Parts: sequence; C-alpha cells; structure tokens
Amino acid sequence: MLMLELSKEDLEKLIELQKIDSKIIKLELKLKELPREIKRLEEVATARRNKIARIDERIEELSERRKELEKLINDSYKQIEEAKKKKAKAKNLEDYKEAIKLKAEAEKKIIAATKEIEAILKELNSLFRERERMEESVAEHERKIAKKREEIAKTEAALQRKLEELGGYREKLVSEISPEVVEFYEEKKYEFGGNVFVPAQNRTCSGCLMQIPSAQYSKLLKGEGLVHCPNCGRILYVVK
Ligand SMILES: [Zn+2]
Repeated sequence: MLMLELSKEDLEKLIELQKIDSKIIKLELKLKELPREIKRLEEVATARRNKIARIDERIEELSERRKELEKLINDSYKQIEEAKKKKAKAKNLEDYKEAIKLKAEAEKKIIAATKEIEAILKELNSLFRERERMEESVAEHERKIAKKREEIAKTEAALQRKLEELGGYREKLVSEISPEVVEFYEEKKYEFGGNVFVPAQNRTCSGCLMQIPSAQYSKLLKGEGLVHCPNCGRILYVVK
C-alpha cells in the first residue's frame, strides 16, 4: 500500500469529488447491471419457448396417434359388420365359429383403442394447460425485458444530463488535487461506490458502520498517515 500525504485541502476537495462521483457511479453501475438482468430474463424466456416447442411436438405426436386409433376403431366396426354377415351366411359350425371369433377380436380392439384415446385426451388436456402457462410466462418476461430496456434509456439520459450539468467542474476539481491521491482514488472508487474516503463518526467507520479498533483510532487521531478501516478497507478521516 502506498503512503499518501493527504492534506486538509486535498481532503476537502476529495470529499466534494466523491459527492459528485457517487451519483455518477450509481448510474454507471445501474447501466452495467441492467443488461445482465435483461440477459437473465431472456434466458428464462428462451427456456420457456423451448419448453413450448417440446410440448408442441408431443401434442403433434399424440394427435397423430389419436387419428390412427380412430381409424382402427372405424375399421373394427366394419370388421364387426362383416363378421355379422359371415355369421348369418355360415354354412357350417366352423364358419360360424370363425365369424364369432372375428367379431370378438374387433370388439377387443375397439375397447383397447377407446381406452388409449381417453388417456391421450387426458394428456393433451394437461399439455394445453401447461402450454398456456408457459406462454403467459414468456409474455411476462417480454414485458419485463421491455421495461428494463426503457430503464436503460432513462438511466443513460440521466447520466448524460448529470455530466452536462457538471460541465467541466469535475475536471477542475481533479486538477486541483494531488495527482497521486487522485490516482489512488480513481483506482478504488468503483469498489466503494464512490466513497473511498469516509469520516470516522463515534469511533465507527461511516462506510461499513463497524467499530474502529483502538490502535487504528489513536493513529487516526494523531494524524499519522492514512488509516484504513480494517473491515471494509476504506480510508478514514476525522471530522474536526
Ligand atoms: Zn469500514
């Protein structure tokens, strides 16, 4: 850690600089975070869309099978009609038995197919409900994404306004502080949201609200170099 000489003048200007920067940094961090939030929302929406595609495939599959079964039932009814005719025309016991067997087989097929259709309808019903839920969720995520995009535009405009409002004031302030102090500050400012130098109030770091240990506190009061908060790492100063 480099040793910085921090004059009272530098400190006053730094505090003013921090006040300006904390507002700018807040907007900048928001601009960084919003695209991440959008990405997360898009990931969920994509997962939901994929789920809908899988549901549609299954619906298609079941609908095909249903058609097959309906055809099978139709054919089986025809088979029953034929079996009845055969039975009526039977010339011997063997023909008669054969006709009865055919009719029994067809009836069995109809029962099995009807059962399968019932199961298909049940599954289709739950798939359609699931699909509706997924579509609602996609729409909700799309609304949220649009809102976040609006927020980005608003934040960008606010940042632009802030910078215009400042004019060259920030630059002027920076030029008046010792370069090594500015360098140190610039390096740390994002880490601490703009507040690198914070006052010690009632023996407490006002950056993280932790109590300052005695050793650090007496060093601070004596004004012997820079004192870091052992908890958050910010640089402390005493308000006199
Ligand atoms: Zn602290």
